[in-house]
Amino acid sequence: MSSIPSPKSKFINVKCHDCGNEQTAFDKPATQVKCHVCGATLVRPTGGKGEIRGELLGEVK
Ligand SMILES: [Zn+2]
Repeated sequence: MSSIPSPKSKFINVKCHDCGNEQTAFDKPATQVKCHVCGATLVRPTGGKGEIRGELLGEVK
């Protein structure tokens, strides 16, 4: 059991460095988030907040 104060996940917009594709992802993904276009890794799971490999454009409100 981990002590995460809130289970709320945010959505973020991430841009792929390789092809310029922009897509929405969880900021705390359970699995790797890959670019829908070229397959590059955009967000890597770390057990908490994901490690963003692409360009973070901002939160989705
Ligand atoms: Zn891409």
